[in-house]
Amino acid sequence: MTMNQAPTDYTPEEEILLQTLRAQSWDEFVGQDTIKKSLRLAIEAALQRKESLDHTLLFGPAGLGKTTLSHLIAKEMNADIKATSGTALNKAGDLAAILTNLKDGDVLFIDEIHRLPKIVEETLYPAMEDFALDIVIGKGPSARTVRLDLPRFTIVGATTRFGLLAGPFRDRFGLIHRLTYYQPQKLTDVVTRGAKKLNVKIDPQSALEIGRRSRGTPRIALKLLKRVRDYAQVNGFDQISTKEVRQALEMFAIDTKGLDETDRRLLNSLIQHHQGGPVGITTIAATLNEDPGTIEEVIEPYLLQIGFLKRTPQGRVVTAAAYKHLGKEYPEE
Ligand code: ADP
Repeated sequence: MTMNQAPTDYTPEEEILLQTLRAQSWDEFVGQDTIKKSLRLAIEAALQRKESLDHTLLFGPAGLGKTTLSHLIAKEMNADIKATSGTALNKAGDLAAILTNLKDGDVLFIDEIHRLPKIVEETLYPAMEDFALDIVIGKGPSARTVRLDLPRFTIVGATTRFGLLAGPFRDRFGLIHRLTYYQPQKLTDVVTRGAKKLNVKIDPQSALEIGRRSRGTPRIALKLLKRVRDYAQVNGFDQISTKEVRQALEMFAIDTKGLDETDRRLLNSLIQHHQGGPVGITTIAATLNEDPGTIEEVIEPYLLQIGFLKRTPQGRVVTAAAYKHLGKEYPEE
């Protein structure tokens, strides 16, 4: 664990911890009530008809619970789940190998589904629609296509970049849900449940303090909880109070809005080098020495959400609220 580790970077131990803290039932899954209601209804209807669930697409920023929901869906459907990702499926053959090993009703979870190569995506179309795979056997003039019947499975796709999915691909999902950032109060519930599982004593005020600084993201709330727990333990506190939360988060350079050094570096560089913008994404990426995709998918969404950054046709602009938060004077026109 390093001090300036971004909120979206995880050490292997943190990954394991997050796995063990994964919500195991609908009750443990906090918030996103509309999505939960709609999924539970669709699942009940599918079970009554003894059919597989419609292919489901979940989208929204990282750490909001897409993977967790996919596991809950499989559990409710009494089905097995296989997980893969858009970057792991390079060839149509990889997909065929997975699909032919599924059973009726199984869930195939594809994370980062927007990264599927086009050829794999197109192989998926008949598989999703007709539960069949068209496989080409042989080469040249003697090549022929064989149609392979597949079990009636359900794809649960997850993506942080809904806009990158082709229209025909999106249309093949019967259920499409967007996960949104969580309110601090909901994250407080995530922290409280997590603390119980970790056998950590934390009062409601401290849980809320962590909730407030977690960028609307359960994954970050759980990670901060773990860091605060480590801090309290090393410093000999057997109970976590707001004071420890503040001290620990200050040590990790996470401020009252949950911004970390990377966020502040982005805002400060826009202010110092570009008078607050507008600045294009490639320029920002070059200045910060970051990948434009990471900025767009990981750093920016929360800054946009809390109104610290605005997107304009000319580029990104830092808002007056961000200047105020950083203790800088807003340049009036
Ligand atoms: P994503 O797939 O969207 O990146 P995950 O499903 O991996 O997010 O969630 C990351 C962590 O946050 C997991 O440990 C998960 O249990 C927890 N989590 C996510 N959403 C919720 C929620 N609504 N309630 C409780 N815990 C949650």
